[in-house]
Amino acid sequence: MRIAKLETYVLEARLEKPILFGIGPYAAFTATLVELTTDDGITGVGECIARRAPRVTDTVLRDLLWPVVQGRDPRDAGGIWDDEMRLLRGWGHYRGFVQEAMSGVDQALWDIVAQAQGVPLYKALGGAGRDRVPVYGSSVYIADLDTMQSETREQVEKGHVALKMKCGRSADLGGFRMDIESVRAVREAAGPGVEIGIDVNGAYDAATAIRFCDAIERHDITFLEEPVYPDDIDGYEQIRRHTTIGLACGESEFGVFGFRELLRRRAVDIIQPDVARVGGFTAGMRVSALVHAHNVRYAPHTGFSCGVAQLASLHLAAAVSGLWKAEWMWIDNPLAELFTEPLPKATKGVVAVPRRPGLGLELDKKKIAKYRLT
Ligand SMILES: [Mg+2]
Repeated sequence: MRIAKLETYVLEARLEKPILFGIGPYAAFTATLVELTTDDGITGVGECIARRAPRVTDTVLRDLLWPVVQGRDPRDAGGIWDDEMRLLRGWGHYRGFVQEAMSGVDQALWDIVAQAQGVPLYKALGGAGRDRVPVYGSSVYIADLDTMQSETREQVEKGHVALKMKCGRSADLGGFRMDIESVRAVREAAGPGVEIGIDVNGAYDAATAIRFCDAIERHDITFLEEPVYPDDIDGYEQIRRHTTIGLACGESEFGVFGFRELLRRRAVDIIQPDVARVGGFTAGMRVSALVHAHNVRYAPHTGFSCGVAQLASLHLAAAVSGLWKAEWMWIDNPLAELFTEPLPKATKGVVAVPRRPGLGLELDKKKIAKYRLT
């Protein structure tokens, strides 16, 4: 079995009204999909996170990675990952777009392996073997407090037992003082039994984050996500030593190496790799071993990714050590439903993982064509 063909799909769906969060407005969903086909006719698919300029990822796939992948046996996915890294690291390309493109390739390879074995992808990974994955609903975005409360009530009524809200308002929206008010409002709307995580998207400095934690600890918050820039590990350590709220991060981190220092320094309690950025299933499972060794929790991230990464993330969650919950998005994302049937839905905070071989759902090429840039 050899990889014989590469196809890529660069997708974009523009929003009428941008979504507001700590980094700024988000106006268009984008993704780059990779399709690999073997000489015996099995096709696997993967998604590269592409929050900006998805054509860049497409070029990385075609010009840098395809020469490494072409003609290889997909069952050697770990070795292919190492070879891609070896080729690129020496030239300084060991993070960013390159790892995001590697993520899509790796997902497609594992999709093929699982189909060839006739098992769902999470079984091919040889991991924990969960056929149902606990999830947290995401996210209550920054808005006026009435809107945030009504959205919270609506999602709790739908059965979510854990949810995430966004903080990190800019000064003109009231800054971190208004964030504190919004946490009180969301807790009041959710009631006492629901777990709440707060995502700041790196909008604070460590001192502000500590003041924020002091003010919201009484609202029984499960985790605080990305309170400071992802590369401010000293900041994470400083906040961690001052609060009982668990810290979470990892959506912006690359490869197994990115998590090594965060965990060695005990800077975080919940790590959130994104299967479409961290380096696919191969890196996701290597990070799983680190999670196991450090006795922290794993909560795979999806965010604004399209449906392929959301589905892949469920399979990763089904396989990893130390799973807390996977992120399950309720937002209206035009690129989520790209299959011939709907993505699996959350029921009472749990999602059943598809049982058919590989990822388990088939891409709908008509839907893909609608959003395709190149
Ligand atoms: Mg986040």
